[in-house]
Amino acid sequence: MRIGVLALQGDVREHLRSLTALGADAIAVRRPEELASVDGLVLPGGESTTMAKLARIFDLLEPLRARVKDGMPAFGTCAGMILLADRIVDGAVGQETIGGLDITVRRNAFGRQVDSFEESLTLAGLDAPVHAVFIRAPWVEEVGPEVEVLATAAGHPVAVRQGHLLATSFHPEVDDDGRIHRLFLDVVRSVG
Ligand code: GLN
Repeated sequence: MRIGVLALQGDVREHLRSLTALGADAIAVRRPEELASVDGLVLPGGESTTMAKLARIFDLLEPLRARVKDGMPAFGTCAGMILLADRIVDGAVGQETIGGLDITVRRNAFGRQVDSFEESLTLAGLDAPVHAVFIRAPWVEEVGPEVEVLATAAGHPVAVRQGHLLATSFHPEVDDDGRIHRLFLDVVRSVG
């Protein structure tokens, strides 16, 4: 199973390491040909406005939209969640997304309280809580009818799934846990 990590900006290496540790053939994706070769794609944490701009410059934005629309499994963490969202609140002016996930995200939502924090979270489908690291994280403000909320923090969804799309406000790639990446690999397997 070949899994790509969108490698325009952000914590690409951490995701590649998490996926490789689970036995996936993980590759960095910077070009449309690389995107075409993967069975699933991780959108890392980082800066969503920068990633969207670079995706446009590298001629990846439309291919990304097309593949997600076509059913390619994708997993977005933090900025990656924003990239998968259909709607953004507090985004930069003209900020583009890949979309596909029927959610409204609020960018930097936890920023007014604390910029970064860690929490033990219960996540649907996992037997024990996960250690969740939030770094200038978004939260989900609204979900469409097809979206399943897997975890909440401060009363807002922070992990969601809609069919082939998975997204977390936090960063499972910074821990050695592996269970959420495994959940994504299960999604890829079930679609493939
Ligand atoms: N605040 C960032 C953004 O809007 C996301 C932060 C992160 O990915 N850790 O893109």
